[in-house]
Amino acid sequence: MRGSYFNIILIVGALSLTTVAIGVGIGTALLSKQTSLEKARELLKQFPLIDGHNDLADTYYRLVNNQIYKLDISERLPNTSSQTDIPRLRQGLLGGQFWSSYVGCSSQDKDAVRRFIEQTDVIKRIVTRYNDVFSLVRSADDIDRVFKTGRIASMIGVEGGHAIDSSLAALRNLYETGVRYMTLTHNCNTPWSESCCDKNGTYRPTGGITAFGEIVIKEMNRLGMFADLAHVSAATMRKVLQVSRAPVIFSHSSAYALCNHPRNVPDDVLNKMAKNGGVVMVNFLNGFVCCPPLCNQTGQRATIPMVADHIDYIVKATGSNDHVGIGADYNGGDKFPEGLEDVSGYPYLFAELIDRGWTDENLKKLAGANLIEAFRKMEKVRDRLSKDEVPNDEVIDEPIVASDTCRTHRKTKDDIDTKLYFY
Ligand SMILES: [Zn+2]
Repeated sequence: MRGSYFNIILIVGALSLTTVAIGVGIGTALLSKQTSLEKARELLKQFPLIDGHNDLADTYYRLVNNQIYKLDISERLPNTSSQTDIPRLRQGLLGGQFWSSYVGCSSQDKDAVRRFIEQTDVIKRIVTRYNDVFSLVRSADDIDRVFKTGRIASMIGVEGGHAIDSSLAALRNLYETGVRYMTLTHNCNTPWSESCCDKNGTYRPTGGITAFGEIVIKEMNRLGMFADLAHVSAATMRKVLQVSRAPVIFSHSSAYALCNHPRNVPDDVLNKMAKNGGVVMVNFLNGFVCCPPLCNQTGQRATIPMVADHIDYIVKATGSNDHVGIGADYNGGDKFPEGLEDVSGYPYLFAELIDRGWTDENLKKLAGANLIEAFRKMEKVRDRLSKDEVPNDEVIDEPIVASDTCRTHRKTKDDIDTKLYFY
C-alpha cells in the first residue's frame, strides 16, 4: 500500500510539474504572439498596407441603393451588413485600398456601362464624404503622399470586362474617371475574354482572349491601367502574360497548388507573372484558401496560418518576395478565417508571418511595396508608349448579343436587395 501511495504522490507530482511546464510554454507562446502583434502594428504604421479588393461600394448598392447618407461607416457596423467600417479600418491599420466598382454579369449587353459609372461614382462620393479618412489616388506616388497624411489611399478597380461593353472609348473613360485596374472578366465571359467560371454563358472566346482582347490589353498598357487577372480562366492568364507590356495583377486570388479553385493561380502562371513583374494579392475567403477535402463547404473554416501558407507558397514558387500582396475581398463574401472576419484583422496575419521569421523588409513588400513597384513600372510603360501610340479606334469583330431589354432591373426608391455574394 505504501508503495502505491508513493507512486500516486510521484505521479501527482510529475503531473503538476508537467502542468506548470505546459503553463509556462503556453505563457511564453502567448507572450511571443503578443509581442509579434505589437510589432506588426508598429510596422503597419510605418509603411502602407494596400489591399487589392474590397466590395464596400456593392454593399452600398445592396443595402441602401447607393444612397450613401443612409449608411454611415464612421460607426461600427454589424458584420452581417458590412465587414468594413472606419473604426475597424483604423484597427486594421489599412493604408491603401482598391475599392471595387462591381456590377453583376446579368447586366452584360444591357445597362452595364451605366451601372459601372454609378458604382464608381459611389466610391468617389464615399471618399468625399469621409475625406478626413480617405483620399482618391490616381498614381503610385500619390499612395505614399496620402499615407503620410494619415489617410487611406483610395484607388478604384473595375471588376468585370463587361464594364466597357467591348468599347475602347468606354475603357478610356474609365481611366479618365480614375480607374486603375480592370478585372478582365467576372464570372462570365465577355465577347473578347474568357472567365474561369462561366458554365453556360453566351460568349465563347477562344484561346483565352481574342484578337480584340489583345487590343484591349494593349490599350490598357498605353493608358496605364492594370489588367487584373482575378476571375479569368488559366488560358486567359497565360495569353495576357504573353501580350501585356506592363505588369499585371491578381487583385484577389490565392495559390492553386494549395487550393484547387479555378479562381486561384496555377504554378506555371505564378512563374510567368513573376517574370512580368506582377503581383498576386492573396484572397482571404475560405473558399480560396482551403479547398475540399481539407475544408468542405459547410465544415472546417480556414485559419490565419493557412492564409500565411498561401503567401509563403507564392514566395517559394516565384523564388522571391517581390510578387505577393494582400487582396482580402472583404464585403465580397461572408466566410472568412477565424481572426480575419473583417478589416480589423490584418495585423494578426502579419504577426503570424513575424513568428515565421519574415524580415521587416519582406513584410513591407508584402504589405504594399510590391504593388507600388508594379504600379511605378506600369506608369513607366505608359510614359514610354504614349510617345509612339495614339488612342486605338479598332472596333470589335466578334458578334455581340442584342438584348431585348436594355435594363437588368430598375431599383425603386426603397428597394433593398437580399444579401448576395459573388466573390
Ligand atoms: Zn471577385
